[in-house]
Amino acid sequence: MPNTRQAVLFLIDGLRPDAIDQADAPAIHRLVLSGASAARAVTVSPQLTLPCIASLFHSQTPQQHGVVDNVWTPTPRLNPGLFDVIKDSGGSAAAVYSYEPLRDLGRPESLDFSYYHRHTEPHTDGRELELAAVAADVLVRDRPTLTFVYIEIADLAGHGYGWMSPEYLEAVARADRAVELVLDEVAAANMMEDTIFLLIADHGGHERVHGWHDGPQDAQEPVPEDCNIPWILSGAGVRKDAVLENEISILDCAPTLAHMLGLTIPPAWQGRVVTEAFEA
Ligand SMILES: [Zn+2]
Ligand SMILES: [Zn+2]
Repeated sequence: MPNTRQAVLFLIDGLRPDAIDQADAPAIHRLVLSGASAARAVTVSPQLTLPCIASLFHSQTPQQHGVVDNVWTPTPRLNPGLFDVIKDSGGSAAAVYSYEPLRDLGRPESLDFSYYHRHTEPHTDGRELELAAVAADVLVRDRPTLTFVYIEIADLAGHGYGWMSPEYLEAVARADRAVELVLDEVAAANMMEDTIFLLIADHGGHERVHGWHDGPQDAQEPVPEDCNIPWILSGAGVRKDAVLENEISILDCAPTLAHMLGLTIPPAWQGRVVTEAFEA
């Protein structure tokens, strides 16, 4: 039944799974220890922000939903996304983000709350903490069925300084502090028992890029460091300190969250419910 519990979806843009151990990231580790995480989670191709996040919300490949680059391309083929399913079931959804094209992840009227603020100085403006504070506030006050928290800085540092560079790892640490702020506020409001957390990335990265190498883009093999993403689920009914060995796709996020929130999964969704993450 919707609204018997709420979910928080953290998306840390460009977060590589191997960065979680190398960066100072106690909050993400807290989620790992309290939940089930994937040893092998993968995103879709091309490994670009908008196609991948559209795939996350619509549980279809970019080739299926039609958003194949970072320009939103409206298409009548677009099946209902997670925000739409929540709205259609009478639930509510909130989103905070700094990347403006994400405004189109849901149909018009699908969101009850949205907050957008672009980074001006990505490495110093503290926008990620501002977004986290806004998310925590709406989460505790309105208890939306889903709160989507988008954190951009790791990707920006990857492009600026290189994936796994000291500057990138510092950005991951700052993203972690934004996650921590939300976790602490949820705990302070005694809402931990009713809240599900899913933390993932849209794609990884290598050198200063993701999605392709330098050179012609057609006929390129995907780079493993771009394709692998973290997938960490925590909350009531989820196994604790469990490492899931099955392959998990970014397409599995929306069905898994919808299932846990008691929502009906649209037939067009291609992903599966990650039942191996649940307690027996
Ligand atoms: Zn991205
Ligand atoms: Zn990027």
